[in-house]
Amino acid sequence: MKRLSFVLVFSLIALLSVAQAKYVFFFIGDGMGPHQVLSTEMYLAELEGRIGRTSLLMTTFPYSGQVATFSANSGITDSAASGTCLASGKKTNNGMIGQKPDGTPAISVASRLKEQGWGIGIMTSVTIDHATPASHYAHTPSRSNYYIIGTQLAESGFDFFGGSGFDQPQDKDNLAAPNLYDLCEQNGYVLAGGYADAKAKIGAQKMLLVPAERLVDRSRHAGALPYAIDRKEGDLSLPEIVEVAIAQLSIHDRFLMMAEGGKIDYASHANDGGTVLREVLDFDNAIKVAYDFYMQHPDETLIVVTADHETGGMALGNSDYTLNLKVLAEQKCSSDLLSDQLSALQKEAGKRLTWEQVKEVISKNTGLYAEVEMSEVDDQLLQAAFAQMIQHQGVEKSLYKDINALASKALALLNQKSRLGWTSKGHTASTVPVFAIGVGAERFTGWHDNSEIAPLIYEATQSH
Ligand SMILES: [Zn+2]
Repeated sequence: MKRLSFVLVFSLIALLSVAQAKYVFFFIGDGMGPHQVLSTEMYLAELEGRIGRTSLLMTTFPYSGQVATFSANSGITDSAASGTCLASGKKTNNGMIGQKPDGTPAISVASRLKEQGWGIGIMTSVTIDHATPASHYAHTPSRSNYYIIGTQLAESGFDFFGGSGFDQPQDKDNLAAPNLYDLCEQNGYVLAGGYADAKAKIGAQKMLLVPAERLVDRSRHAGALPYAIDRKEGDLSLPEIVEVAIAQLSIHDRFLMMAEGGKIDYASHANDGGTVLREVLDFDNAIKVAYDFYMQHPDETLIVVTADHETGGMALGNSDYTLNLKVLAEQKCSSDLLSDQLSALQKEAGKRLTWEQVKEVISKNTGLYAEVEMSEVDDQLLQAAFAQMIQHQGVEKSLYKDINALASKALALLNQKSRLGWTSKGHTASTVPVFAIGVGAERFTGWHDNSEIAPLIYEATQSH
């Protein structure tokens, strides 16, 4: 009897210690509320001629729940406070990176696991010093301290970084201070310029992956990677970065990687639904790369997908009881690119610019005046914006870019016709989804606070 209970206890211990994640994928869709996900699924179904949902990979995961996102000092969080909370489990004030409201450090799960010998990778589709990625390795009272954040990246000891580059590679206040790319090299990072170069350098001790052009002039401010809808052949993408990161981190026995889909937020700030859908699809494609790894190591891998907050107050439905999301398939570029195209046209033609020329560009990129029907009122609205544009009054402020007001109006019209609604150009307090699969995934069901996510991930990595 005694022997039997020994056997039982040992088997139980063995079982529990098997249930420990060795490979952790933490995906954060910046600004990805429940409707950014659902609209993408219902859009895909409409393209197949049905009303319903065509599932993204993330929504097929067996465990899911909802997460509240408010920060320590505001009902509506920014990406610094929510990033810090998702990284460390500590609520903080808007704007703060890796610090609690009193200024003491909020230690990320990534840092704790690094101390335990894990390989760590941090990647994003925006700059690598932006609030969400920075929250995992930096500690500073303001998210705008880009140069300081960059120096902390170089000194983090983390094994892989991937993104569009540094916002401020040079210290604006001290020109003698080292360039951040140089500093990374001095700290043992191999710099990879683009996907092919990174593939050739896999096996390096530590790697920083950025687009090739970033390494040509190392002092230049980096913008984000292009939107998925605007991507050209050869442009670096989040799924590619995740693929490189897995190969690179596989030199370690255990690893954790955080991958941010940073531009779901940007497109939602611009209330640009067609671009949001393509960003969510691209983010889901990045998750697919991790899922392939999970299928090879199902007993050792945990994938958690969530968001830091919702952006835009996106709603499905703005008038009658219909949705018409399929019109967004006519959209061929982001509001940013449409704005750039219209501005370039204006610069080129000057005072000779005609409504017909502008209408052609709008029609080609949005489907308005072609596949998408226009009423007389719609036409008047756009022509009025054109009249303002030629008097040089037509610029609208968006968080990340000044948008040509005509481009913005044309896309607002397309969004209205798709029946998408937007309540804000900023963030909202909406809950965000969490989806999980793999070892420890059952922890992520139900209604959570964002401060619970990091401790649950950490718990799944520790033996009991
Ligand atoms: Zn935002």
